[in-house]
Amino acid sequence: MHIRAGIHTRLTNPSVPPTSSLRLSISPSLPPSLIIFPMSGLFAGTPLERPVTCEFCGKPLADCICPRDAEGNVLPPSRQTAVIRIEKRRRGKTVTTVSGLDPVASDLPAILKQLKSTCAAGGTVSHTGDMVEIQGDHRERIAAMLTEMGYKTRVIG
Ligand SMILES: [Zn+2]
Repeated sequence: MHIRAGIHTRLTNPSVPPTSSLRLSISPSLPPSLIIFPMSGLFAGTPLERPVTCEFCGKPLADCICPRDAEGNVLPPSRQTAVIRIEKRRRGKTVTTVSGLDPVASDLPAILKQLKSTCAAGGTVSHTGDMVEIQGDHRERIAAMLTEMGYKTRVIG
């Protein structure tokens, strides 16, 4: 017992040069529990003992960049279904609308920009702020693009 207590003191004593603790940790005669002990107890009893991590990416919340909705729930594209349909506007104009995407978790202006470019068509984010409209019938192209971005898609009509 006396020898073990002495080793523990040397392992945790910051004044001991690193070389001596290195020699200690590679010593085959030292029980593994004595080597591991100082590390496993590092955060014991402190708030850091169990850091709060994101349930989706597993990172500490401070490092998590997962998309979240207005309530703070993780809502990545894979958990959102884009509903794509054709609608008639005034003067017989056809638009392809994309609804069902969370306007907080998803960057609709960025999606609009990409869809406009892919479809080579004009478009807008609806005045309600939760729907993207592209002029013309581009259901297949839009569905393919959103699928590529990770969204689930449902094409209606
Ligand atoms: Zn995350």
